[in-house]
Amino acid sequence: MGEASAKSSRSRDSIRQLTTTAMLAAFYGLPWLHWNDTPWLLLDIDARQFQIAGLQMQPEQSLPLLWLALAALALLCLATSLYGRLWCTYACPQTVLTRLFRKLTGLTAFKGRMAALGPPLRQGLWAGIALWTGISFVGYFTPIADLVQGLLSFSLSGWEWFWISFYGLATWANVVYLHEQVCSYLCPYSRIQPLITDTRTPAIQYNAPRGEPRGPRGLDNASVLHRSRGLLDATTAADYVFRAAHPAIAGAMPNFSPVHLGDCTDCGACVAACPIGLDIRNGRSRSCIGCGNCMDACDDAMAASHYPLDLIHRARPITDGDAATSGLRIKPLAFAGIALLCIVLAAFTAASVVGAA
Ligand code: SF4
Ligand code: SF4
Repeated sequence: MGEASAKSSRSRDSIRQLTTTAMLAAFYGLPWLHWNDTPWLLLDIDARQFQIAGLQMQPEQSLPLLWLALAALALLCLATSLYGRLWCTYACPQTVLTRLFRKLTGLTAFKGRMAALGPPLRQGLWAGIALWTGISFVGYFTPIADLVQGLLSFSLSGWEWFWISFYGLATWANVVYLHEQVCSYLCPYSRIQPLITDTRTPAIQYNAPRGEPRGPRGLDNASVLHRSRGLLDATTAADYVFRAAHPAIAGAMPNFSPVHLGDCTDCGACVAACPIGLDIRNGRSRSCIGCGNCMDACDDAMAASHYPLDLIHRARPITDGDAATSGLRIKPLAFAGIALLCIVLAAFTAASVVGAA
C-alpha cells in the first residue's frame, strides 16, 4: 500500500512538475523566440504593430486575434465546467510561481551551521526571479534583447523602468506575502466559479460515506471497504460530518467502536496540508483552489493505516439519487457553442483581413 500511495502521489506530482516546467519555459522563453529574424511574439505598442509567428499585423487587423482569445476563454470555461479547476491546480501563473517559490524554500532549507544562510539566500534568489519575471513580461512589448541591453547600460525609458519594477515587485510580493490569498480574494476566475460550474462538475472532495464516523483506532482495524460495515448512505454520512463540524450545535459525537468507524482516522493531515486552512471533510467549498495537497496528505495517511487510497479524491458530488447526475448540461453546451461561434468569427474575420491586404 505504501508503494501504491507513493506511486499515486508521484504521478500527480509528475503532472504538476511537467505543467510547471512547461508554463515557466513558455513564459520565460517566448520573448526570445525568433521566426525569420523577427520575434515570434511581439506586441509593439509604440510602433502600433503586432508580430505573431512571422505575421505582421496592425492593431486594426487584429480582430481575428480577439475572437481567438474569446474562444480560448470559452474553452477554459468549458474545461472547468466538465473537469473542475484543473487550470488552478496545474497551470495558473500564481500556482506555478508559488510552487517555484516553495521548491526554492525546500532547496534553501539548510541544516546545522548553514541554517542561517537559507532565508537571505532564498529572498535574494526570489528577488532575482521576480526581476526576471518583470523583464520577461515587458519583453512581450519591447524586443527583450534590447531591453536587457538597455537595463545593463541604464538607458531604458521611464515607462520600461516603471513596468519592469511594477511586475517584478508584484511577482515578489504576490508569492511571498499573498500566495493563495490571491486565489481566495482577488482572482476573478475564482470568483465566477459558481457561474461556470454545475452540480456535476468534479471537485476535490472527501468520501464521507466511506470516512464517517471518523476517529482514531488501532492499526488492526481493516478498511470499511474490506469489512461488513461497508459504506454509509449519503444522508447518514452528511449527518456525521455536520455533527463533527458543529459540536456546539449538535453535541459531542458518541464514541464509536472500531467496527463502526469509517476510514477517516481524524489525523488532521488534510487540514494541515491545506494552504488556505480548509477542512475538506466539511464539504465542497467555493474557496477550494483544487491544489490537491489534502489528497496527497490523506493518501499518505491511508497508506500508513494500510487502507485503500482516495478517501479524498477528485470526483462528482456524492448523492443518493441520480437527479443531480442526469439530464442535459446547459453550461458546458453553452460554452462549447460560444467557443465554436468565436472560432468561426475568427476564421471569417481572418479571411476578410487577408482579402483586404
Ligand atoms: S488542500 Fe485545501 S485548497 Fe487544496 S484541494 Fe484540498 S481543500 Fe482545496
Ligand atoms: S488526512 Fe484523511 S484520514 Fe486524516 S483527517 Fe484528513 S480525511 Fe481523515
